[in-house]
Amino acid sequence: MPVAVSIKQLHKQFGDLTALNGIDLEINEGEIFGLLGPNGAGKSTLISIMAGLCRADSGQVTIMGRDVVKQATASRRMLGVVPQELLFDPFFKVREVLEIQAGYFGVDQKNRAWIDELLESLGLADKANSNMRALSGGMKRRVLIAQALVHKPRVLVLDEPTAGVDVDLRQSLWSFVERLHNDGTTVLLTTHYLEEAEALCERIGIMNHGELVALDSRAGLMKRYSHYQLKLRLKGATESLPSVVGEALQRREADSIWLQVADDDQHLDAILTALKLADIQILSLHTHEQTLEDLFLELTAGKAA
Ligand code: ADP
Ligand code: MG
Repeated sequence: MPVAVSIKQLHKQFGDLTALNGIDLEINEGEIFGLLGPNGAGKSTLISIMAGLCRADSGQVTIMGRDVVKQATASRRMLGVVPQELLFDPFFKVREVLEIQAGYFGVDQKNRAWIDELLESLGLADKANSNMRALSGGMKRRVLIAQALVHKPRVLVLDEPTAGVDVDLRQSLWSFVERLHNDGTTVLLTTHYLEEAEALCERIGIMNHGELVALDSRAGLMKRYSHYQLKLRLKGATESLPSVVGEALQRREADSIWLQVADDDQHLDAILTALKLADIQILSLHTHEQTLEDLFLELTAGKAA
C-alpha cells in the first residue's frame, strides 16, 4: 500500500523537555489511523511538524511523498489540519473564513460548490453568514473542519476533534470522517477518547512521553495485550492460594479474589485445576473483558506525568 505519511526518527526538544524522542511511523494511503496518548505525550507537536508550523530538531516527515521542510508548499497542499485549539478571527463570517482559506491555497472560484457542500455536510449551511464570534464551540469546531478540507487535501489530520464536543456532534463528525475515508482520504486522528479510536481507526498508535509505546491494528493491539479479569468468590479463606493463582492475583475482597487471566487456552485451565487440587471451592465466577481503556492505562502506567 502506498504511504501517505512517513515519519522517520523524529526528535523535538523544547529546552530540557523532550517532546518527541525518535518517532518512526508510516500511515498508509486511505487508512484511518488513531494516535492515542495522555496530555503532554507529544501528539500536537508531531502534528505541528507535519503541518510545517514547527521545525523538528532531526528526522524527516513526508506527506504523500513531499518533504515537509524541503517541499513545504507541496506538502501543505496535500494536508488538511484541524487544530486542537479553536483560534479564529471573530469578525469574519463562516463562508468568508472558508473563502479566505481557499484563496490561501490558490483554489479558484469553482470551489464555491465544494464550499457549499462542506457547509451542507457539516450542518453549517444556515450559519454561512454568521460571524464566527456568534458560534458555539461545537459549531466553531465544524468550521475548523471545513477549513481544513477547503483545498481537498489527500490527508486529513484531526487533533482531538471531539474534545468538549457534545454527543450529537461527535456522532455526526464520525460519520463525516467515515465518508471522507470512503472517498479515499487518509485520516489521522488524535484522541483521548478510546471509544473513538475503537470505533473508527484501523490501526492505533499509543504515544507517551514522546515515544510510540505501541503500534498495531486495533484487533492486534487488543489481542497482544489481551487478558481479562476474573472474579472468583471462594468458600473459606482466600489467604493461602496455589502459586499459579497467587501470581495472577490483582486484589482481594472479603471472600473474593480478582485475577488477571491471559486470554489463551491454558491459563484459566491452570488456575481452575490448581484451585481444585488445593480443595478450594469456587462459589461464583465473573469475568470482566479488557477494554482499550484498560490497555491504554496499562501501557502508559507509571510513565504519565
Ligand atoms: P499532546 O498534544 O500529546 O498533549 P503536546 O505535543 O502538546 O502533547 O506537548 C508535548 C510536550 O511538549 C508537553 O510537555 C508540552 O508542555 C511541551 N510543549 C509543547 N509545545 C511547546 C512549546 N511551544 N514550548 C515549550 N514546550 C512545549
Ligand atoms: Mg495535543
